[in-house]
Amino acid sequence: MKTVLTNCTVIACTGELAKKDMTIVIDGNRIAEVSHSVHQQVIRKEGEVRVIDLDGSYVLPGLWNVHAHPFDLFPDFANRLMSESPIECAIRAGRNLIDALKVGVTAVRVAGERDFIDVAWKQAFQDGIFIGPRMFVCGQVIVCTGGHGWEWDNAVEIDGPYEMRKAVREQLKHGVDQIKIAVSDGTSDLLADEIESATQVAHQKGKSVCAHATGLGLKTAIKAGVDCIEHGCLMDDEAVQLMKDNNVFYDPTLVIIQDAEYLKELGLIGSSGCINPEACEEFATQHSACKEDFTRMYRTLKGRILIAQERRIPSDLASMHLESFRKALDAGVRITCGADVSPIGDYALLEIEHMVRAGMNEMQALIAATRTSAELCGVSDQLGTVEAGKLADLIVVRKNPLEAIGSLRKLKLVLRDGKLIEIE
Ligand SMILES: [Zn+2]
Repeated sequence: MKTVLTNCTVIACTGELAKKDMTIVIDGNRIAEVSHSVHQQVIRKEGEVRVIDLDGSYVLPGLWNVHAHPFDLFPDFANRLMSESPIECAIRAGRNLIDALKVGVTAVRVAGERDFIDVAWKQAFQDGIFIGPRMFVCGQVIVCTGGHGWEWDNAVEIDGPYEMRKAVREQLKHGVDQIKIAVSDGTSDLLADEIESATQVAHQKGKSVCAHATGLGLKTAIKAGVDCIEHGCLMDDEAVQLMKDNNVFYDPTLVIIQDAEYLKELGLIGSSGCINPEACEEFATQHSACKEDFTRMYRTLKGRILIAQERRIPSDLASMHLESFRKALDAGVRITCGADVSPIGDYALLEIEHMVRAGMNEMQALIAATRTSAELCGVSDQLGTVEAGKLADLIVVRKNPLEAIGSLRKLKLVLRDGKLIEIE
């Protein structure tokens, strides 16, 4: 089965400018051809050819969210996470992943999950039991005893290099793609020899290590050989230089730290710290194409405000994080798109918007959410750009995201592995 997407503008995310009046030929699950031409009529040769006139819409690579926790529920008012069985949790997590695909997130890296739910869903999608995003999974997060996140079901506590080796091998045994460690929240909780053990064992098997790290622990983690820093809220010039010199990826997860400030800027959080209903309604009206869109937008805004309240991120931490991001951007560190909070899809779109607010231009933010995120997962030869030979994970949006990044929400089509996904 061949699919021809014609009469479109291609934003390939290769670093090239957008190209108008293009045609993309998809053969099976791969892009066969990207050319400057417009098909005028349906061509039928041998087999079936489906021609879709996109009427000037924009074709991009599918989007990525490389820091997701499908099980997570935040805010968790009913305290569900404490009592939920792994099976109930797994069902909820699957819904979260499937919904992400419907908003254009065709690939997800799970940066820590309980009970290997991520491994199971990856397998289910690969086997075609359900249709979901492409997945890259880390299994459980490894922390030191009492370290960041120890109280969650998804963490394994270790002490010393030998326990670290054991824990990493345990994850690898379950079929993970990467290893996630939680180094620190400002000080160095995991010690250098423990981190080195993780990178040695993982690298020996060709797997990379990502580290939740800020402040001092971040430098320890880079020196011990980690491949990606998550959050990195407090980075000085030396830390940024270390990242650059060691070719370490930076996954800033801006939305979790920046959202409260942004919502305040938009006037959506009132002076009392609570939701400003009139402002939210006005915002939703302006940003919605239809009534369903309005309901969804209003609900999302309320959710974001509740999350912002529950997290209580201080303004000075938010500004330090923003400064860290800008330093990394100026230095040319490879920045990826991870959003940390669920729903995985909605928050990926928000993360892209936050990257633009934080100083990237639209093209840089799109490349972060496609090509660079695919590089982080070691598959940029197959995914992350619109080029002949690559797998056909694509999105089509009605308006130009290079003019207004929010246009990513005006989704027309999603293709995963060359197949059209039902998005309504
Ligand atoms: Zn996380």
